[in-house]
Amino acid sequence: MEKTLFQRICDQELPAQIVFQDDQVVAFRDINPQAPTHVLIVPRKPVVRIGEAQPDDHALLGHLLLKAAEVARTLGLEAGYRLVINNGPDGGEAVPHLHVHILGGRRMTWPPG
Ligand code: 5GP
Repeated sequence: MEKTLFQRICDQELPAQIVFQDDQVVAFRDINPQAPTHVLIVPRKPVVRIGEAQPDDHALLGHLLLKAAEVARTLGLEAGYRLVINNGPDGGEAVPHLHVHILGGRRMTWPPG
């Protein structure tokens, strides 16, 4: 099966500013930042979207969220940050490889657009 865009970034076949990686997840700066700090953290495994995650992905999803919080701390987002997962067309998903947006460095508004 063809690799997803984010798998190619994880495998360093495409350039990205990687801020953290381990054997399960990779975090890199978004190419079109929506906040002063905008990082995506993705599982190396190409889970398509959160709505298609399987019971087998339980530990991986926990790891992904714990690492998102760790990356946010490392990036100095002590004042707060927002984690976003877009799912499907109405959710604003553009890349079909699960990713958590880490947004910070400015005051977020609510409700989101
Ligand atoms: P989604 O809308 O699917 O939740 O978010 C996809 C995100 O991926 C967008 O914020 C978009 O800017 C980012 N993105 C798309 N292509 C690339 C790329 O080639 N490199 C990086 N670093 N980010 C990308």
